Amino acid sequence: MGQIVRGKCVDISSEGKGVVKVGKYIYFVDGLFIGEEADIDVLYQRAGVYFGKVKQLHVISKNRIQPKCKVCTSCGGCQYQQIDYNTQLGYKTKRVKEALLRIGGIKTPVLPCIGMKEPYYYRNKIQMPYGKDRKGNVVYGFFKENSHEIIPVKECVIEDKRAASILWDIKELVKQMNIPTYNEDSGKGILRYVLIRTSYHYKELMVVLVTSMMNFPGQRNFVDALTKLHPEITTIVENVNKRHTNVILGTEEKVLYGPGYIKDKILDLTFEISASSFFQVNPIQVEKLYKTALNLIDFKEKPIVLDAYSGVGTIGLIAARNASKVISVEVNKDASRNAKENAKRNGVTNIEFYCDDAGNFINNYPDNLDIVIMDPPRKGSDEKFLSTLLNKKPKQIIYVSCDPETLARDLKYLSSLFETTYVQPVDMFPMTAHVETVACLQLKER
Ligand code: SAH
Repeated sequence: MGQIVRGKCVDISSEGKGVVKVGKYIYFVDGLFIGEEADIDVLYQRAGVYFGKVKQLHVISKNRIQPKCKVCTSCGGCQYQQIDYNTQLGYKTKRVKEALLRIGGIKTPVLPCIGMKEPYYYRNKIQMPYGKDRKGNVVYGFFKENSHEIIPVKECVIEDKRAASILWDIKELVKQMNIPTYNEDSGKGILRYVLIRTSYHYKELMVVLVTSMMNFPGQRNFVDALTKLHPEITTIVENVNKRHTNVILGTEEKVLYGPGYIKDKILDLTFEISASSFFQVNPIQVEKLYKTALNLIDFKEKPIVLDAYSGVGTIGLIAARNASKVISVEVNKDASRNAKENAKRNGVTNIEFYCDDAGNFINNYPDNLDIVIMDPPRKGSDEKFLSTLLNKKPKQIIYVSCDPETLARDLKYLSSLFETTYVQPVDMFPMTAHVETVACLQLKER
């Protein structure tokens, strides 16, 4: 659009953009923080709001810091790398508080967001596209916004440190062995992405090669060379994705080296993680999150607990140690299968698994429920699930949410019968605008 506007940042949007008001217009600006003033390069307009980036800063926040990552302004993954960690935590607490009030009409005090001591290099999963730059050199990194051009990144500062040198050496091997990288526009080529999963508690590390065809030429040599260079790699999986889409993983898989999975621990239980399993990405904060959620439950009376949206069963399996029984519901078949295996692996027998839509499941569930733990995806829960909660009237609901706005909407829906008594944000994703929240709802006395 090419227009330049000067303005002051008065707020932070839920996506982590600075909010600037000039006259009757609102601008959402990347990398601008509360109190700062800047010339804004206006880029585009959507639904009556203008989006832009900082052209020149005039007033600089005292909390602004030098980002660790050189590409943090163009990558788009880390909205908050340029502001100090305490301020980030403050923004997250504020976001939860305001969403609950504005969308949910909920005035329950929001506790300060629980942060991390070392808020860098925490992610246990990293994925990067491989391709060629304009000169034909092999590169990996991230896609530039709205394009298939790869901006090279040597090290991502929120991802496990062990990944960087493996990604680099894969690039070198691809070059040496002439393995064709995939071209997103033409659909030609073989290597699309590399995904790395690291275990925090075990010395285990998985490399997933996402390719456009099974058994690419030179595969054996490639695997031998890579494992020789990096003996810390304990398993390599090939995942084939033939579709022309921005979804990274396909459905066909082949184990090229090792057992095809890695293990990790959360609060003394061991979980098996395969290439496509959902697993919490911050191994340090997940323990704080689960402790926060489970500490709210009174286990003295040995309740029956429903773990809805259970993923690979992590929260439910931990709760089962203190409950009389846990009922776990998950819609994804693979995750549900992993959950059953995880129960066996950990010798947990008082847990039942159902692969179903959570709403469907509780609607047909014949008995009462004492306690419900729910951890839905970003879009939140749905009317079927929530209306059944209103009918079943469990004593307590523990809502774990990764989106304060849908959390607020759902708490409002439940507010006729349930009082929100406790709200604790937990920072699972430092440097980004995302925030996880644990909310406790108690059945109102009649
Ligand atoms: N509690 C788990 C997983 C949370 S992620 C953990 O802490 O690791 C949310 C999960 O909800 C995903 O595994 C997703 O597959 C599942 N899910 C999404 N929609 C669902 C639905 N309608 N019914 C049941 N599960 C659903």
